[in-house]
Amino acid sequence: MPQADHYTHIIVGAGSAGSVLASRLSEDKDVRVLVLEAGREDHDPLHRTPATFLPLLGGAFNWGYLSVSQAALGRPVAVPRGRGYGGSSAVNANVYLRGTASDYDGWRDEYGADGWGWDDVLPYFRKAERNSRLGDDPYHGADGPLRVEDGKYVHPVTSAWVAAAVNAGLEHTDDFNGERGTGAGIFQSTVHDGRRWSAADAYLRPALLRPNVRILAGVTVGRVVLEGRRAVGVAYVDGDGDEGMAWADGEVVIAAGAINSPQVLLLSGIGPRNDLEQLGIHVNRDLPGVGQNLQDHPAFPLISTIDTADVPTLAATAAAAEQFERDQTGPLASTFAEAGALVAFDGNADAEIEYMTGAVALGEGLPELTEPVFTNVVMVAKPRSRGTVRIVSRDPAIAPAIDPAIYADPDDLEVMLEGVQRAISIASHQPFAAHVTGTITTTGQHPSEEQLAADVLRWTQTTYHPTSTCAMGTGAMAVVDPTLRVHGFDNLRVVDASVMPAITRGNTNAPTIMIAEKAADLIKETTRA
Ligand SMILES: Cc1cc2nc3c(=O)[nH]c(=O)nc-3n(C[C@H](O)[C@H](O)[C@H](O)COP(=O)(O)OP(=O)(O)OC[C@H]3O[C@@H](n4cnc5c(N)ncnc54)[C@H](O)[C@@H]3O)c2cc1C
Repeated sequence: MPQADHYTHIIVGAGSAGSVLASRLSEDKDVRVLVLEAGREDHDPLHRTPATFLPLLGGAFNWGYLSVSQAALGRPVAVPRGRGYGGSSAVNANVYLRGTASDYDGWRDEYGADGWGWDDVLPYFRKAERNSRLGDDPYHGADGPLRVEDGKYVHPVTSAWVAAAVNAGLEHTDDFNGERGTGAGIFQSTVHDGRRWSAADAYLRPALLRPNVRILAGVTVGRVVLEGRRAVGVAYVDGDGDEGMAWADGEVVIAAGAINSPQVLLLSGIGPRNDLEQLGIHVNRDLPGVGQNLQDHPAFPLISTIDTADVPTLAATAAAAEQFERDQTGPLASTFAEAGALVAFDGNADAEIEYMTGAVALGEGLPELTEPVFTNVVMVAKPRSRGTVRIVSRDPAIAPAIDPAIYADPDDLEVMLEGVQRAISIASHQPFAAHVTGTITTTGQHPSEEQLAADVLRWTQTTYHPTSTCAMGTGAMAVVDPTLRVHGFDNLRVVDASVMPAITRGNTNAPTIMIAEKAADLIKETTRA
């Protein structure tokens, strides 16, 4: 027998965006909120320790998707996605970057996302943020739920890399989210007192203390129940395979992330007509943009072996575990992506390349490494390539086909090669150069152009920042309007990284949280009207 339950609003997914929505929408005591999450509560100590990035790439808290084989690379790449309280914010590398003003002005001017220009979104970044060092200023917030702090541990070789980047000509910055969006420095992170601080820590757990919020964990939403232009509920399957229904008289909000939100829409008969008909799915709305326009930042890990005779290791030794347990300091407080740079080319204002650096091996398919290493993840900050997410089955448990279409636009490869050349140049500057003993992912420390192009194709992956598969806007390929309502429906919204019309420069957690903060106000306005 299906279970039945009635709520004001239903939120599908308790990730970065879903956690914000659960919190903000339940501020109104008259509203009853149900959150449905496929994963479980994040009890594991891994979810408290910053230096747990690598184990969290697998296991029960990750969907562990793989892309289709990439035409430019001749192989698939990993598509990890958080699964559980906090979603991807609970398994990420904690880097706090917002993107630049032109990213958001571009959403408004190029895609018709009215109300989402930089001046419109900055107040929501500030509302979300509680910045321990920069406090309350025109760019930063001091009172929000999202802790943004300096990490409690920076590896000495990371500091040497920042100094080398400055010696190579980059400007030093101690605020990547202020007036200027470029420079090299130590990142601020979503950590609090040395511990990870996911969207579940910031928003979801406090919201669950309220009597008007309920979460159903371990359930997978298969489709939205539609009556004409209205979403009236959702159908889900629990861990035992039993089906359930939940009903909403307010809004149904899909916040399942850039891979699963299009999947839920497609399974609900909202998407490209031909694709739906091929799978025998009744077409409720022919919306060609659903699952299209997938973007991610291509990434190449420039990995050097380093001489660590006089510097510590980030390995999880018993001593490091004891130190972290005692006062949340030491190597396990490292966020791995401790520092980096945003680099503009040719005197432009906006970055073309992001570097993320740490004294650890970050890269897919690496050989077993016996020597200590340092990684500079070189990312194309504003890629032009667009890929797809397509369902291959009517069964929600079957993974969709994910094609990030890495380097489909040849400009992305050009930008990457330039970024890697510059990264190699930084590595040859002191004081970093003194630590370098060899390389893992390039053919020697000074490869030829041809060798470097082959090395880049051999090791390119994504940065795990999928966006734009339910893009906001007014054009033919737009899926949601600027109030984040799915075109053609009155009370069905998508709120997560999938609605970005184009990916932002930098990492995508802070922008997703901003989107949900603003969406909560949009939904509240409708509920009050
Ligand atoms: C390994 C990794 C490292 C990253 N590092 C950084 C970083 O350092 N800094 C940064 O800014 N960004 C980083 N990101 C990206 C950032 O975390 C994401 O962009 C952001 O969390 C996306 O939020 P979201 O709400 O769109 O989706 P998610 O946070 O992924 O939330 C979606 C939620 O929906 C649930 N769900 C999915 N389908 C269903 C369904 N059918 N029924 C019920 N529930 C469902 C999922 O289990 C998940 O909990 C990283 C991401 C990953 C995976």
